[in-house]
Amino acid sequence: MQILAKCPKCDAGLPVDAEDAPATIKCGGCGREIPLTISEPVRADAAVDRCPVCAGADFYIRKDFDPKVGLTVVIIGALVSAGFYWFGRDLIAYGILGSAALIDLIVYGRLKDLTVCYRCHTEFRGEYERRAPAFDLHIADLLELEYERRIGRR
Ligand SMILES: [Zn+2]
Ligand SMILES: [Zn+2]
Repeated sequence: MQILAKCPKCDAGLPVDAEDAPATIKCGGCGREIPLTISEPVRADAAVDRCPVCAGADFYIRKDFDPKVGLTVVIIGALVSAGFYWFGRDLIAYGILGSAALIDLIVYGRLKDLTVCYRCHTEFRGEYERRAPAFDLHIADLLELEYERRIGRR
C-alpha cells in the first residue's frame, strides 16, 4: 500500500511505502518529525483501518483523479474543434468536442478508488478492499475541527 502522509503542520504530502515504513518521517517542507503508527492491515495492504498519522479510524473514498489530465483532454478537444469551427465545419467541431468529453468519461471510469483520512487528509492507494463510504461534508467538518484542535491549529 502506498501512503501519502500529510504533514500536520504544513500539509505537504509525504509518500511512504507501508510495507517498510519507518517509525518516523521528516517533512521535507517544514522539517517536522512525524511519527507513523502503521497497523497490521495497512502494512499487509489488506485494509485501511487506522490512520498512521493521526490514529483516526474515519475514512472516505474518492476517485484517484488528476484534474490536470481531464483538463488537458478538454483543452485539446476544444482547440481542435475551434480549428474546425473556423473553417465552418460545425458538425465535426461538435463531434470532436463530444468525443473529448467521452474520453474524459472513460478516463474517469477507469480510475481507481483512493481512501482518504477525514482528519488529516492522508491518502491511501493499494490493492486492499475499499470499505470506506463516500465523502460526507458534515462528518468532514466535525472531524477536521476535532483534529485541528488536537494538533493546536485552531
Ligand atoms: Zn511539514
Ligand atoms: Zn489521519
